[in-house]
Amino acid sequence: MSNLCNLTIAEASKQLAEGKITSADLTKSVLERIEQVEPKVEAYLKVLEDSALKEAEASDKRRQAGKPLSKLDGVPIAVKDLFCTKDVETTAASNILKGFVPCYEATAVKKLKDAGVVLVGKLNQDAFAHGSSTENSDFKVTKNPWDLERVPGGSSGGSAAAVAADECLGALGTDTGGSIRQPASLCGVVGLKPTYGRVSRYGVIAMASSLDVIGPLAKTTEDAALIMEVIAGRDSLDGTTLGAPVPEYSKELEKDMKGLKVGVPKEYFAEGMDEDVKKVIEKSVEKLKSLGAEIAEISLPHTDMALATYYILQPAEVSSNLSRYDGIKYGFSTLREEKEQPLEKVYFESRGQGFGAEAKRRVMLGTHVLSAGYYDAYYKKAMKLRTLVKKDFDEAFKKVDVIVTPVSPTPAFKIGEKSDNPIQMYLSDIYTVPINPAGVPAISTPAGFVERDGKKLPVGIQIIGPMLGEPVILNVSYQLEKALSLKDRPKL
Ligand code: GLN
Repeated sequence: MSNLCNLTIAEASKQLAEGKITSADLTKSVLERIEQVEPKVEAYLKVLEDSALKEAEASDKRRQAGKPLSKLDGVPIAVKDLFCTKDVETTAASNILKGFVPCYEATAVKKLKDAGVVLVGKLNQDAFAHGSSTENSDFKVTKNPWDLERVPGGSSGGSAAAVAADECLGALGTDTGGSIRQPASLCGVVGLKPTYGRVSRYGVIAMASSLDVIGPLAKTTEDAALIMEVIAGRDSLDGTTLGAPVPEYSKELEKDMKGLKVGVPKEYFAEGMDEDVKKVIEKSVEKLKSLGAEIAEISLPHTDMALATYYILQPAEVSSNLSRYDGIKYGFSTLREEKEQPLEKVYFESRGQGFGAEAKRRVMLGTHVLSAGYYDAYYKKAMKLRTLVKKDFDEAFKKVDVIVTPVSPTPAFKIGEKSDNPIQMYLSDIYTVPINPAGVPAISTPAGFVERDGKKLPVGIQIIGPMLGEPVILNVSYQLEKALSLKDRPKL
């Protein structure tokens, strides 16, 4: 078996441009790798073998004609199943969307395709992106490639695991409260949550629309930058997208760290963090210092309220977004089983059977906090707190260029360890959740390893920037990655 699937996007792009490899061979290598490791990892819900090979051949023809569409032409990439893909079943890993075949493409997917990317398949996730372990998928549990008894994180667990296991060269995920960064950290890959509005949400099944962000998961920072160059930008189909020009992110990576001001918030190093994880983060902060950065302790005083704020606003938006799954318009429906049913019965039974336990929990929580008697006490109060959380970041970025924190308080946990305890599961988002209400960008970069049961488990560091600060966080991530030079890969 060729090992072209081990290449980074940057390496593959260069070798494709130099004519050293073809997209067909690269894609075949990825498909062979999937055949080999997928029985263990279970990252994919659907592998698009035939169309991927056709797209690869078309890409090779463009190259031969001297007309590649972009640097990513012919590069095999996969997307989370939350992205609508034209004529390809899209389920959000939920039973209620089984059989839903979109008639249009999400903008981010369309942009990748217009750039010549080969779409390898649809990746597993927590149903509707509710979760931190991918155990909430209605179809299968993805395994962490570093230790198959552990979760890959979530909700974009399939995306992180597939990238870590070389089952694609890069992937798209979504992040509402950490769903790109946390699985990236737990699987040892790079995951970027861009500024709110930097990437179009059009055609991405909504979780909590005021918090949802689309971004790349990749083997390296440079690869994440290359994907961002393609997917970012204004989209007339998503009114919240920003009009600011899209920088050539991959050209912003080499700047040195001298004089860069790095803030370390004291609230993020409170109790509850695993001691070994803490050491990895502290070592990375030292590394940044040795590269010339100035480290300063800062305060984000409303941090302890951010998680509670998130778990009011997010279910409120979830309950409203999920109301469209009425058993009539999309996917699963009890209408197809019996001929005549009263309308209410169709709604009730389709939703009752189609939604999993976590979606139901969030619909109930959200409906409660939005109900007339509780709106002021919960939803309105949480909206006020959201402003304070955002203000914390605005104030901090007057003093520092970037903020670094852990991504997750623990390394990957065992499958089943937290699945019966929603509060424990929600606590795994404590360091990623405050970033979404603030809207600022953040990246998870591999920072080191801890050992559990004789196995190495990756730990990521979170680098947070000001609004539209993707260039600076990618720059810091790249320099740290170079300085740490972590070479281990999961053994499968
Ligand atoms: N784990 C968080 C949750 O369950 C975040 C999910 C996400 O970012 N989509 O809400």
